[in-house]
Amino acid sequence: MAVPMKFLSEELNAMKEAGLYGTIRTLESPQGAWVVIDGKKYLNLCSNNYLGLCNDPRIVKKAKEYMDIYGVGPGAVRTIAGTMSPHIELEKKLAAFKGAEAAIVVQSGFCANLTVIPTLVPSADDVIFSDSLNHASIIDACKLTKARVVRYNHSDMEDLEKKLEENTGATGRKLLITDGVFSMDGDVAKLPRIVELCEQHNVIVAVDDAHGEGVLGRGGRGIVDHFGLHGRVDVEIGTMSKAFGVMGGMAAGSALLVDFLRQKARPNLFSSALTVPDVAANLASVEILQESETLVKKLWSNGDFLKKELKALGFDTGSSETPITPVIIGEASDAKAFSAKLFAAGVFATAIVFPTVPRGTARVRAMVSAAHSEDDLRFAVEKFAAVGKEMGIIS
Ligand SMILES: *Cc1c(COP(=O)(O)O)cnc(C)c1O
Repeated sequence: MAVPMKFLSEELNAMKEAGLYGTIRTLESPQGAWVVIDGKKYLNLCSNNYLGLCNDPRIVKKAKEYMDIYGVGPGAVRTIAGTMSPHIELEKKLAAFKGAEAAIVVQSGFCANLTVIPTLVPSADDVIFSDSLNHASIIDACKLTKARVVRYNHSDMEDLEKKLEENTGATGRKLLITDGVFSMDGDVAKLPRIVELCEQHNVIVAVDDAHGEGVLGRGGRGIVDHFGLHGRVDVEIGTMSKAFGVMGGMAAGSALLVDFLRQKARPNLFSSALTVPDVAANLASVEILQESETLVKKLWSNGDFLKKELKALGFDTGSSETPITPVIIGEASDAKAFSAKLFAAGVFATAIVFPTVPRGTARVRAMVSAAHSEDDLRFAVEKFAAVGKEMGIIS
């Protein structure tokens, strides 16, 4: 007889009572500036589709072309069934784009952290320095190693320096890992100082640039390019599920480092590669970014516009330095109500609550895209204003 797992309903009910149970909408359209839900059109302010590439005809075309040649599935893990040439083509292209010697492509950004962290610092005498607001996939990757994790306060360089000094006696390897752009607030890691401190203390530097790829740096080349730190960051971890508009993860660095990851990282040894259409679509995305900065510039001007307008209305848009626009409300239930009222008015902007953000800082996060027109954003501002006044969040 099946085990009666009473905890399933108990815990789900507790989440519902606390306002922490999430509704997952079904989209009947591509992830565009507008989406169709239950037959109705909504302005999309939820996706990480920064450059509007998710349904760009150029990447769809390339996926079809490659599928006609190579089919879809990779067959098995790369170390057993061999690797397909499109994957190698993508890795070369990504390395060139990032200004790194080499890159390895894995299944997702989540997997990219599992690829890098436990492989570089596996042992009990190793130490990981980790920003307190790092992404869940970094936290989980840290759980897959025996290394000791030392958390430093978010972007607090004095605290980091103190913790580096406290651990100078550690006998194993040392790795620092930080998000490049912190996705819930939109602030940027203080990478120049981090690199300086890590050089002084002989610590490997890895940055997870999931929200910086396609956003920061020249033509979206990421945080290392943004700060001109080429050659001083050991590992750039990234995702192709955000600005690139597809799916997949990567780690870029020296040829030796990438060779090491290919031979030893468990997501490469025990999980099959991306499918051919994913790889082909990613190739097209990188080509689009290499050709022109237009989309990246549009993204930033859209982000600046929305932030300025919402701030002027009196909303708390936090400390974002990127197009990410949080509207901080406070209580989870209020943020959910705000999001529900926006939805009724035709704006799809999900509430983000604990445990994704700390309790008491629940928010509606507006994600602009290069695909939004100025009219789209004016529509958003109008609806935020109406709901904010109705709920007494602004006057
Ligand atoms: C989104 C994100 C990931 C996960 O990327 P996927 O490709 O969706 O798995 C990893 N790290 C950070 C910092 C992210 O923001």
